[in-house]
Amino acid sequence: FTSPGNNAVLVIGLGRFGSSVALSLARLGHEVLGIDRNADLVHEWAERLTHVVEADATNTDTLRRLGAADFDHAVVGIGSDVEASVLTVLALSELNIPDIWAKAISDKHGRILERTGAHHVVYPEATMGERVAHLVTGKMIDFIEFDDGFAIVKTRAPSEAIGKTLAEAALRSKHGVTIVGVKRAMTDFTHATPETIVEKGDLLIVSGPTNKVEAFAAIT
Ligand code: ADP
Repeated sequence: FTSPGNNAVLVIGLGRFGSSVALSLARLGHEVLGIDRNADLVHEWAERLTHVVEADATNTDTLRRLGAADFDHAVVGIGSDVEASVLTVLALSELNIPDIWAKAISDKHGRILERTGAHHVVYPEATMGERVAHLVTGKMIDFIEFDDGFAIVKTRAPSEAIGKTLAEAALRSKHGVTIVGVKRAMTDFTHATPETIVEKGDLLIVSGPTNKVEAFAAIT
């Protein structure tokens, strides 16, 4: 693995999170170099990923020897061992990797990772917990929130819109949300237009500020 391509990704820590990232990247056609200090895990993943190495990623020299400095992207999936996670991010940033992603298990951990050189910090458990909270009552069928308080959800059509075109229903002026798509039973999603008629049982893809979208889903 001496000269990784532009889209090659270094994935460190092949636990539940890191291995899922590595597998998805491989499926998307990216070259992946997986690193873990656990020999059993390395052995297990060697069958499913092309390049897997057993190494301690907190060691800058070890990473350099493995060619880590040539990667444009790295994902650190170490969570429970906060010290190893921080030292690994530090080592990657010493190698000037331009795009470092790291998983954090708490806000404090995340703040340290940002200070240490991570360009993106993700909180898989907090994010998923929030998502499930939105879905568990059944009002939203899917929920995605972006960093800046903007969300896209899948929800049922509210009764006030049934039998009307989107222009007539005027959901944007009444509720501050935009209908992006409409799905009728047995058909694919179609992009919403002002002429789209909403029928009973339709599902809507709705975007807007998170609080507006939440309030809209609550009336459905
Ligand atoms: P998950 O919850 O996603 O399974 P864990 O934190 O439990 O995440 O798993 C982290 C993985 O990272 C483990 O497989 C562990 O062996 C690996 N790991 C931890 N420290 C290091 C390190 N210094 N170098 C390489 N791999 C490490």
